[in-house]
Amino acid sequence: MARQTHTGSCHCGNVRFEVDLDLANGGGKCNCGICRKTRNWSASVKPDAFRLLSDPAASIDYFRNGVVHWPFCSTCGVRPYGHGDIPEAGGPFVSVQLACLDNVDDALLAAAPVRYANGRDNDWWHEPSAAEKAFL
Ligand SMILES: [Zn+2]
Repeated sequence: MARQTHTGSCHCGNVRFEVDLDLANGGGKCNCGICRKTRNWSASVKPDAFRLLSDPAASIDYFRNGVVHWPFCSTCGVRPYGHGDIPEAGGPFVSVQLACLDNVDDALLAAAPVRYANGRDNDWWHEPSAAEKAFL
């Protein structure tokens, strides 16, 4: 596989985006507070690989932890992407919810590898317990 341009959206379609990524690289799941509660499975890209196609005013920003913005659609509540700047993790990024991509072949998503991170304990380079991984 190679990097391809995908489109994605929230449930109602008021938030729409385009992203260039290689699904063969998969995405990450994490046990931090928001990732666990939203069952986040996302792939991070550099900001220039992400284009918001809709009006930024269609989303409400959520920036509670002061690290990653998680805007959510003000109509349907789905949050198709987040963004932030973490120098230790390579600087500015956009994190796209793989479940919010449109028109992706199910087999491609099913084959995309999952990486797990113990974000809850700020131990990003290790995985959560097997029991917690099974739930995430
Ligand atoms: Zn929406």
